[in-house]
Amino acid sequence: MLVVMQAHATEEQVRDVCQKIEKMGYRAHAMPGAQRTAIGITGNKAEIEPGTLEEMPGVQEVIQVSKPYKLVSRELKEDNTVIRFPGTNATIGGAGLAIIAGPCAIESREQAFAIADRVSRAGAQFFRGGAYKPRTSPYSFQGLGEEGLRIMAEVRQQFGMKIVTEAIDHESLDLVEEWADVIQIGARNMQNFSLLKRAGRARKPILLKRGMSATLEEFLMAAEYILSEGNYNVALCERGVRTFADHTRNTLDLSLVPAVQRLSHLPILVDPSHGTGKRNKVTPLSRASIAVGADGLLVEVHNKPDEALSDGPQSLFPDQFDELMAQVRQIATVVGRTVPAIGARETVVAGK
Ligand code: PEP
Ligand code: MN
Repeated sequence: MLVVMQAHATEEQVRDVCQKIEKMGYRAHAMPGAQRTAIGITGNKAEIEPGTLEEMPGVQEVIQVSKPYKLVSRELKEDNTVIRFPGTNATIGGAGLAIIAGPCAIESREQAFAIADRVSRAGAQFFRGGAYKPRTSPYSFQGLGEEGLRIMAEVRQQFGMKIVTEAIDHESLDLVEEWADVIQIGARNMQNFSLLKRAGRARKPILLKRGMSATLEEFLMAAEYILSEGNYNVALCERGVRTFADHTRNTLDLSLVPAVQRLSHLPILVDPSHGTGKRNKVTPLSRASIAVGADGLLVEVHNKPDEALSDGPQSLFPDQFDELMAQVRQIATVVGRTVPAIGARETVVAGK
């Protein structure tokens, strides 16, 4: 169920409707849009009798949401969600592309700084690196843990990039929430519902990666878990799915991008690194991702890929990342996007 407010409804009227919904024992999620505010209702077991709400001042109409997901749906919010990072030009969603780059895992301060220096000069606004790694083998490098988070905080301090890193359980999520700017939930945890609920109570944006064999609906329902707990700053990330193809690690499903954009207001990024597993395919598929309309990229870059403790074969050399960025910038102009520099001052358009 969704309450659509009139375009000229006052804040007080929106508040009154929310209070009424909460009094009925449900949860109200007010989503302001460019034209009007819509209020999503969750927590109801059965259909709600629209009568009482429909009659309230400022209410335009009360409609049933036809999809199983509500808060992530375009039915609730027509305008694209734009995740902002105050004090910077970086956004996830919006006209500016979000470029997230860095190693698969933080291995040392020297390694992180060497890579951060290069990706930041190439124009990435976000630095990524795993401190908690979900590895297939328990004998593989599991990440530096909190030390890795501290190193990334130093990277932010030095280069100004925002930090994206994965939380793999409740314990690491507490720490990642404290240290990072964006909390990544990885493919393996896309349906870890208790972790998704915890992410929904976090005070930082969430980057949710698609599960290895998740359908579009399962992916959106996973995001719905996060929004239903009150965290509306969620970005999705396509990272390839498992198929019979063996020329790549995963099959990057670029058709997911327009499919998500039709159904949901959430930003959708693409990770061509995990999506292909092969360094030589990362740049071509990055070009394709921007051309198809993705809101940004997540790319693994390593200063010494041959010595990387994880995902070396898919990590770009810094020079290759420079070239990728040059190509992405060209394609961005064709699709009406830009790659904003994180530190640049925002241009204030007169009258806005
Ligand atoms: C990662 O981004 O380092 C990662 C582990 O990705 P995924 O969860 O998509 O496998
Ligand atoms: Mn990786």
